[in-house]
Amino acid sequence: LSQSGRVDNPRLCVCVRKRPLSKKELGKKEIDVVTIPGNGTLLFHEPKQKVDLTKYLENQVFHFDYSFDETTTNDTVYRHTAKPLVQTIFEGGMATCFAYGQTGSGKTHTMGGDFSGKNQNSSKGIYALAAQDVFTLLRQHPDLDPFVSFFEIYNGKVYDLLNKKTQLRVLEDERQQMQVVGLQEMSVTCVADVIKMIERGSACRTSGQTFANANSSRSHAVLQIILRRRLQLHGKFSLVDLAGNERGMDVRGNDRQTLAETAEINRSLLALKECIRSLGHNSDHIPFRMSKLTQVLRDSFIGENSRTCMIAMISPGMGSCDYTLNTLRYANRVKEL
Ligand code: ADP
Ligand code: MG
Repeated sequence: LSQSGRVDNPRLCVCVRKRPLSKKELGKKEIDVVTIPGNGTLLFHEPKQKVDLTKYLENQVFHFDYSFDETTTNDTVYRHTAKPLVQTIFEGGMATCFAYGQTGSGKTHTMGGDFSGKNQNSSKGIYALAAQDVFTLLRQHPDLDPFVSFFEIYNGKVYDLLNKKTQLRVLEDERQQMQVVGLQEMSVTCVADVIKMIERGSACRTSGQTFANANSSRSHAVLQIILRRRLQLHGKFSLVDLAGNERGMDVRGNDRQTLAETAEINRSLLALKECIRSLGHNSDHIPFRMSKLTQVLRDSFIGENSRTCMIAMISPGMGSCDYTLNTLRYANRVKEL
C-alpha cells in the first residue's frame, strides 16, 4: 500500500520529492510554495494576482503514491520507491526508476548521492542503495552474476560513460530487442565495485571533450544493474537521472544548437510519459520509437514483469514555481490511468 493508501497500478509508483530551500533561495527570502501535509497529498500555493493587482496564493491539491517533504532522507525515499523493485530483477523482470525534474531540483542528489567525502553514509543515493540490496540478495542466488553499465543520452545519441564517452549505435535485433551495440558491461563483485563505476561514469559525464558545451542537465544518464545466468539476461534494473525538464519553457535567446537540444529533450520526456502511461493499459501501441531514451528502455515498458517508479523532484521556491507546476502536472499525468 502506498502512503496515500491507493493501489492504482502495482506496476507503477509515482512520487514527488521536495528539496529544502537552498542557502541562495533563503538569502533571497524566497517563499516556499509547497506544503506536504501527509498521506501522499501535496499542496501547491500558486501566486496569483487579482484585477486590482493585489497578490494572493491559490492552493492546488495533488495526490501521489508518496509525497516526500524536505526533511526526508535519501534512505527513506529509496525504501518506498526503488527498494521494492530490487526483487523484480531477481524474479526475471525489468525494473526502472526515473528521477524527473528541473535542473537543481535534486535528481542527482537523489540518484547519485554525494560521494564528495564528508558524511558518506547519510548521503548515499539510490544507485548505491540499490546496489547494496542487490548484493545482499545475490547471496541467496549464487547462480546469478551482476554487471553494470552506465551511459548517457544526449541529443538523441548514446555515449558510454564507462568507455571514454564512446558514441554507440542502437539496433533492433531479430527478436525485436533493442541493443546498444558495444556498450561496456562491467562485471562487479561487491558494492564498492559498483560505486567505483558510478564515480568513474559521473566524472566522465561532467568532463569529457566529445561535446564541449553539453553538461549533465541536458542529458539523460542511465545506470543499469544487470543480472545474468550463464551470460543469459535474467533481470535488469535501470536507474535514470533524466535531463532537466526546464528547457522549452524559456526559449529566449537560444541558439540553434540549444533549440535542437530542447526539442530532443521535450520529445523524449513526452515519449517517456506516453510509454509509462501505456504500462497501465496493456496497450499494443507503446510509442517507444518516439525517442532514443524510450527506445533504449523499451524492455521496461513491456512484459508482465516490468515495474517502474518515477520520483518527480521539485524546488520549493517561489522563483521556480512555473517549473514546479509543470513537473507536478507531468507526474500527475503519468499516474493517471
Ligand atoms: P539536479 O540533479 O536535479 O540538477 P542536484 O541533485 O544537483 O539537482 O541538486 C541541486 C543542489 O541541491 C545540490 O547542491 C544538492 O546537494 C542540493 N539538494 C538537492 N536535493 C536535496 C535534498 N533533498 N536535501 C538537501 N540538499 C539537496
Ligand atoms: Mg543533476
